[in-house]
Amino acid sequence: MDLNRLYKNMEEGKVPFLGPDDDFQWSGCNMCGLCCFDTEILLNPYDILRLRRHLGMTTTDLLSKGLVEVFPGGNSGLPLAMVTFRRVNKKMSICPFLGAVVDEGKLRKRINGKDKPSREDLEAARVPNKYACIVYPARPSVCRSSPLGRMTMWEKEGKENRRLFYQPPASNCPAIQEEGRIRVSCWIENNGVQPYWDAGDGFHQLLSTMMEKGLVVNKGADQAAKAAWRIAAGLPYDFDNLVPLPEEFPQTRVGEHAEEDRLLLAWIYQMVEMVAEAAGQIREAAKARLTG
Ligand code: SF4
Ligand code: SF4
Repeated sequence: MDLNRLYKNMEEGKVPFLGPDDDFQWSGCNMCGLCCFDTEILLNPYDILRLRRHLGMTTTDLLSKGLVEVFPGGNSGLPLAMVTFRRVNKKMSICPFLGAVVDEGKLRKRINGKDKPSREDLEAARVPNKYACIVYPARPSVCRSSPLGRMTMWEKEGKENRRLFYQPPASNCPAIQEEGRIRVSCWIENNGVQPYWDAGDGFHQLLSTMMEKGLVVNKGADQAAKAAWRIAAGLPYDFDNLVPLPEEFPQTRVGEHAEEDRLLLAWIYQMVEMVAEAAGQIREAAKARLTG
């Protein structure tokens, strides 16, 4: 999803908002892979948790292998994570999780008797013009819900309202060129979107807490704010570094919750809130020392 284009389209009233009983044009994905180029895939901590499990990697691996990056958001200064797209040329970038589709029957015939396929076997068994997401069961929230997106709007008295909008995955996506429609509620159900959105809401809350504690980095940020940001920013994403733990959260609880994503996530959010609180206090103290 190109966020700049999306905001521009929203400002111009070109983005339709939908309810659960509305439907939208969708004839089915033909795996052309076009929507996995030149876009931005923002990740929340649940996305990273699912990717870690699926790939059998730590968050440190995801970061060091250049699959995921964490940086201060341009407008908010809050920590954001994103899939790191590989640059193909000046104009084109590609998701590192996009892979070619291999015809298993063809491959079986080619390797007949061999322990493993050669590069030539793989190339010969490739299905032309078909691409697949190699993390499909753990594909991030943005990809899972596309062509639906969700945004938070603040109504009067600060009440939050989450609205669904429709944004084609790619302007030349075949699934929106041909006849066919699907209901919003079916889409959410069929794609297992709700747990991702629930986890996203928790993260949103966490970011609000960080903002309240002054844990943002922007142009005018002082050294103390930057230091505090560094303490708190990585934690919502880097579950490998959530140690040492205070007494209320003995180390064993990580093990207990390690197999239950949502429990683990709730625990992580609780931890980060505590760290944000502490980092906020450290920041205030450091600021007082610098100005005092
Ligand atoms: S562009 Fe459309 S049809 Fe092609 S992979 Fe993406 S969703 Fe599927
Ligand atoms: S994570 Fe999968 S679905 Fe999402 S952009 Fe990458 S390859 Fe495409």
